Amino acid sequence: MGLPVVAIVGRPNVGKSTLVNRLTGMMAAIVHDSPGVTRDRTYRRALWQGRDFLVVDTGGLVFEDDSEFLPHIRQQVMTALSEADVVVMVVDGQAGPTAADESIAQWLRQQPTPIVLAVNKCESPQQGIVQAAQFWELSVGEPVPLSSIHGSGTGDLLDLVAEELPDLDQVDDAEEIKVAIVGRPNVGKSSLLNAFVGETRSIVSPISGTTRDAIDMLAVRGEQTYRFIDTAGIRKKKNVQYGPEFFSINRAFKAIRRSDVVLLVLDASDGITEQDQKLAGRIADEGRACVVVINKWDTIAKDNYTIYEFEKKLQARLNFLDWTEMIFVSAKTGQRIEKIINLVDHAAEQHQRRVTTSVINEVIEEAVSWHSPPTSRQGRQGKIYYGTQVSSQPPAIALFVNSPDLFKDNYRRYIEGQFRKNLGFTGTPIRLFWRGKR
Ligand code: GDP
Ligand code: GDP
Repeated sequence: MGLPVVAIVGRPNVGKSTLVNRLTGMMAAIVHDSPGVTRDRTYRRALWQGRDFLVVDTGGLVFEDDSEFLPHIRQQVMTALSEADVVVMVVDGQAGPTAADESIAQWLRQQPTPIVLAVNKCESPQQGIVQAAQFWELSVGEPVPLSSIHGSGTGDLLDLVAEELPDLDQVDDAEEIKVAIVGRPNVGKSSLLNAFVGETRSIVSPISGTTRDAIDMLAVRGEQTYRFIDTAGIRKKKNVQYGPEFFSINRAFKAIRRSDVVLLVLDASDGITEQDQKLAGRIADEGRACVVVINKWDTIAKDNYTIYEFEKKLQARLNFLDWTEMIFVSAKTGQRIEKIINLVDHAAEQHQRRVTTSVINEVIEEAVSWHSPPTSRQGRQGKIYYGTQVSSQPPAIALFVNSPDLFKDNYRRYIEGQFRKNLGFTGTPIRLFWRGKR
């Protein structure tokens, strides 16, 4: 179980970073810099009434402006939101509600994450109440007046945030493995689901998922409970509006977001399509564990090499997922169905895994002695001081270095490869954060 995450969003200049500093006090930023994206995400630890959580500043959220960075920033915010337990929307009490606040609120209302509305820059308590009241019109709940600069009102804000954090005694829920089955129409998702339900002993009960009309199914095998996410989406055979071939990628994205492990189902006779690649990309971006299931294996004429040739082809075309296991099955004959569940268990275990700091540093030390970090043209050599795992689901490792700029992509890939080689993590993405000394 990772710490609960609180995401801070809002348009630029409303005081998000000031608020984050206020909420997290002197606690240092523990992670930043995710490779390949333009805006850094900074996670910091906060403590309120004995609850530990992480606060992540998502950077300014802008909807009107069409600058080329916008999609990246929005992607960042979405990724941050998808892992957040609570979102704090920050607005500027002195400026009053703006069109940008309205678009952000409208967008947030469509997300499943609970929202707490912080009306910042309310230094005067009397005026603050009036200033805050203007923000009821955003329809995201009770506006809380506060001043990040003075600290007034931040306790009330944290009380509301704490109310929305997952209950400590709900932690048991984390014992269930949430499985999303995704793939194009007709690849055999519902046949696989039925096959699992046949494999898993006893209870199968449909229960409501968090998003509207999503029905989850619980199944138990041995000690383990599995929650199959959005089985209504899997079983929906025909969409009246769009015909049977309609493929709701958004529905698949939502299921991925709610899952621990994704079964990406492909049809052995079709190969890999662009839609499969989209799904694969999303699974990796969301940091979910994954098993690639190649179904309808019974329809393929095989010799001794067929599986290897298939594997090679898949690896070349699904390079997002070079860390997954693939399995060739038939929902029709039942071949290897049982084994999928074992792979799901394994992937879920790796996804939650925590590795001690000493083991991580052993790997780093060994990796660096084989292959020293690059030296810049000015003769500065990269130095990795130490590394530590900062979160799980997926495992994230922060590497503290003299200067992140000195570590280019190929060396970063080398280090990631060493972690994989030495620590396994099969079935789960891992994240490395390269963090400079200040
Ligand atoms: P961000 O872009 O949302 O991260 O905003 P910043 O935290 O950088 O703050 C933007 C500006 O608002 C800065 O000039 C801050 O000093 C100011 N500011 C932040 N919080 C408060 C506050 O509580 N009261 C007042 N009066 N100004 C604030
Ligand atoms: P979904 O749209 O992904 O849920 O796919 P379905 O489970 O409805 O399967 C689509 C079609 O493929 C149905 O006619 C199934 O009977 C067939 N099918 C599913 N799995 C297999 C399999 O392993 N082998 C063969 N030959 N057919 C399969």
